[in-house]
Amino acid sequence: MPIQGKTPTYASGTIQWLVKRLHPDGYFVNNPDLFDEPTTLNRESVRLTRFAIEALAELDALDRIDNDAVVTFLLKNFKAPSNAIGNLKGFSALPNSSVNIRATLDSVIILDKLDALGTIDTEAVAQLILAYQNNDGGFWDPGYPEFGQQSTVKATAFAVQALHHMGKLNSQVVNQEHQQQINRFVENSWSNDTNSFSPFPGHPVISSYDAHRAWFSIHHLPINQKAGDTVREILHIEELIATLNSTFKTTENVYSEEGHSEQNSLKATHLVVWMLKEMGRLDAVSVPDVVQFIKGYQDPKGAFTSDIYSVHSAVDTLRLLSSARMTSQLEIYRLLFYAALVTALISILLFLILHRKLKSQKHSALVRRAQTDRLTGLHNREFLEQRYFSYQQEYSDMAFILLDVDHFKSINDNHGHLAGDDVLIELSTLLNNNIRKTDTLARWGGEEFAILCPATESEHAQTLSEKLRSLIEQHHFQAVNKLTCSFGVACTLKNESLKDLYARADKALYQSKRDGRNKVTCL
Ligand code: GH3
Ligand code: MG
Ligand code: MG
Repeated sequence: MPIQGKTPTYASGTIQWLVKRLHPDGYFVNNPDLFDEPTTLNRESVRLTRFAIEALAELDALDRIDNDAVVTFLLKNFKAPSNAIGNLKGFSALPNSSVNIRATLDSVIILDKLDALGTIDTEAVAQLILAYQNNDGGFWDPGYPEFGQQSTVKATAFAVQALHHMGKLNSQVVNQEHQQQINRFVENSWSNDTNSFSPFPGHPVISSYDAHRAWFSIHHLPINQKAGDTVREILHIEELIATLNSTFKTTENVYSEEGHSEQNSLKATHLVVWMLKEMGRLDAVSVPDVVQFIKGYQDPKGAFTSDIYSVHSAVDTLRLLSSARMTSQLEIYRLLFYAALVTALISILLFLILHRKLKSQKHSALVRRAQTDRLTGLHNREFLEQRYFSYQQEYSDMAFILLDVDHFKSINDNHGHLAGDDVLIELSTLLNNNIRKTDTLARWGGEEFAILCPATESEHAQTLSEKLRSLIEQHHFQAVNKLTCSFGVACTLKNESLKDLYARADKALYQSKRDGRNKVTCL
């Protein structure tokens, strides 16, 4: 069974690669060969640091870097904006540049990951971000001067994300009206022409990234958390998925930044997977193709070592997909495993029961055969011996009746052996039909029969023998018409063995023969 939360195989190489890229001054660089150059710090440094830290956090390796150096580096950029009104504070990308949402977002995320948000005044930062919300509900960012003060889906997503990381996305800081305005701004950025999101209302759609940004802008808003399907409705999720899969999907089944472009994009693929995973719609993505595509970024040893942005996108996409795949696969594996286990156990149990039943049936059939006389179907001598033994514990008075066909030899001689057999069979039936249920009739051997009568005194045994003698005498046997039998009766003495009891009965029988046959003698 798969183990959840297992460290991925690419982790250690990737961590090693990332850790080597932390400059002693507390920021990450793509190329550590340039550590000695005075110009390694630039406008990208905070951003790169953010993605390196996020990747390390996902790989559970934040203990491998010098947190203090990173925090010290960031705090150098924490200041009031040049045009500050009131108590506003935020981050710039470099100590000598202007405060903006982008740099603030990156810095807040880093501090959040390093558990160091306590080192800044998050309330002042939240107020700064809110100062950039326009009346149309969207946010603008001085970090993107090309859009002026125009609200953009991008700046809005960054603003909401920063507020989210600081835990300020609550109704005290961002009231319901503000949240509704954000919803409305995103709603207005939907393009009916292209069924996707524009960078801002009225602008043509240019990038698949805006779908993710639109989703992120409204995903964490408390008013939407309560209202189940609002996010899906504002996003036109079904149409949006259709557009992503028609306009932004490449021939390799991954995603591109620009519409109808064959250019695979790790970032676009990451953002699409991220959004759809959170919306429970990963079914719209070809997971095996995405995984294959991301594996193309691994170095020969399996680690991700291309550049910090790609490493982060690759690691995070695999994380999103592995947990999704694991939970669904794990469920299936678990179900299959238990189903197989239960089936196997039931099969084994059924087999054992059947086996035992067959065995005991076979055994009792064998025993029955061993204790039955072949010719007459009566019990044989062995059976009677066993029964005598078990009855001995129960009954103090038992009678043993031995009977022998008179002149049987002459029957064989005169009518043939087969007729003799028929006589024995007919006699068996006659005897069987005229004894009590509790009596045991057995063929003792040859033309001799024995009857064991439990709880029977000598007198009653004699009466029974007399009755049987008379019945036989009067019976019309098919093969020979008439025949008679002689009887010897003996009753048990205390702890007497069957051998001794038989000997006495035999003696009595012999006496009957001597007395002229067709007699009952009791000893
Ligand atoms: P008695 O009155 O003194 O008992 O005379 P008997 O002829 O009955 O006694 P004996 O012991 O001389 O002969 C018994 C005969 O029974 C001999 C034997 O061949 C025959 N016999 C024993 N078992 C069977 C059997 O299964 N079938 C047949 N047809 N005959 C049997
Ligand atoms: Mg005999
Ligand atoms: Mg005989």
